[in-house]
Amino acid sequence: MKKLLLINPVNKARVGLTINKSSRFPPIGLGIIAALTPDNLVIKILDENFVEFQYQEADLVGITAFTASVNRAYEIAKLYRNKNIPVIMGGIHASLQTEEAIQYVDSIVVGEAELVWNQVIKDYESGNLQKIYKSEKIDLSKTPIARHDLFNKGYMFGSIQTARGCPMDCEFCSVTSFNGHTYRQRPIENVLDEMENIPQKMIFIVDDNIIGHGKAASKPALDLFKGIIDRGIKKEWFCQASLNFADNEEILKCAAKAGCRMVFIGLEAENDESLKDANKKLNLKMGVNSYEDAFKKINKYGIAVLGAFIYGFDTDNSAMLDNRTKYIINSGVDVVQTTILTPLPGTRLFNNMLNESRLLHTNFPEDWSFYDMTEAIFKPKFMTLGELNLSMEKCNSSVGKVIGKKFFKTLFATRRFKTAIWALSSNINYQNVSKNQKNKR
Ligand code: SF4
Repeated sequence: MKKLLLINPVNKARVGLTINKSSRFPPIGLGIIAALTPDNLVIKILDENFVEFQYQEADLVGITAFTASVNRAYEIAKLYRNKNIPVIMGGIHASLQTEEAIQYVDSIVVGEAELVWNQVIKDYESGNLQKIYKSEKIDLSKTPIARHDLFNKGYMFGSIQTARGCPMDCEFCSVTSFNGHTYRQRPIENVLDEMENIPQKMIFIVDDNIIGHGKAASKPALDLFKGIIDRGIKKEWFCQASLNFADNEEILKCAAKAGCRMVFIGLEAENDESLKDANKKLNLKMGVNSYEDAFKKINKYGIAVLGAFIYGFDTDNSAMLDNRTKYIINSGVDVVQTTILTPLPGTRLFNNMLNESRLLHTNFPEDWSFYDMTEAIFKPKFMTLGELNLSMEKCNSSVGKVIGKKFFKTLFATRRFKTAIWALSSNINYQNVSKNQKNKR
């Protein structure tokens, strides 16, 4: 039988936010591709999160990549193409930078693979692979249960996707370019079947917003939580959600009962100017004064809040970033994730900065390696590059000093030891990311 090798490449020199083993998650896209592949091919996933790539025999190669790891993907693709083994690339970078990527592989699957993968395999078998396969955004009842059995057994967390797309339009986000503006949900029973299939006890729900957008979308989220409880699925999980996750106490109660221990919320900033610059409409609408109330409500149900903040908006200066740091330290956020604003390809932010000649690394594709969210890669408007990096360092060092205090705050506010431990480990992970970054400078 012919062998399909699916590869998850990692840029070892710049692991960025995934320096810790517990911050790495199974490459769910490759698991979906494996599930879509007909039985007449033997499938293997080679995952550089665990094993450094060494050449191995294959008849066909499928490779994915984020922007920061794309050069590693091109490097591996070259080895196979030199032996006339076709390489097909998919994932967010290749979908948004198709003209670049097609120079390094034989075919690209742009966007979602579900409706085109069968054709890709047929064309491969008839020796007639096309350069580009592009599908419309699909109805998610068409997505299969990912092949979790093929992922490396070393992952601490399993991963699952319950929905795609986001109607918001944040300046820095590439999700909408890739997954579209319409929020689409998978059928609940399908998601529950997949959850039961995941070997790990702990799961990361990769959706950008588990409760969706608008009242109608939160009903399926509630049904999902109730379904987990009714089926007796004993998993613990964390998810991502918008700030209004806190608005509906029935959702919070059911989420907690269904195993939710932590929620990632993109807070981004604590002042209106920066939120406006980011076009973070929901946070602006709810108002920064509502943040603390939201944290308290979420904590009340035993769930920790992972607050994500960005440094380097065009409205930011050193004094404002010092205030952001003070806010973070004194706020009820349990886990702190800070990143430097990163103009990813496919975003308005990238296009604007490119047009304004503000990007510091534009020798693509080589320079994509810098785009890993841990380093300032553009000229800030109201401060120097050194000041931006220093503000970030000062923040990370201040957070490092209050990790213990935050642990007791989480324990007291959630009254759940497990939640406090999750929050503590996540804070330690983010500290490791910043220490690693500091050592590189
Ligand atoms: S940052 Fe979140 S809310 Fe904003 S566009 Fe991206 S996914 Fe949507």
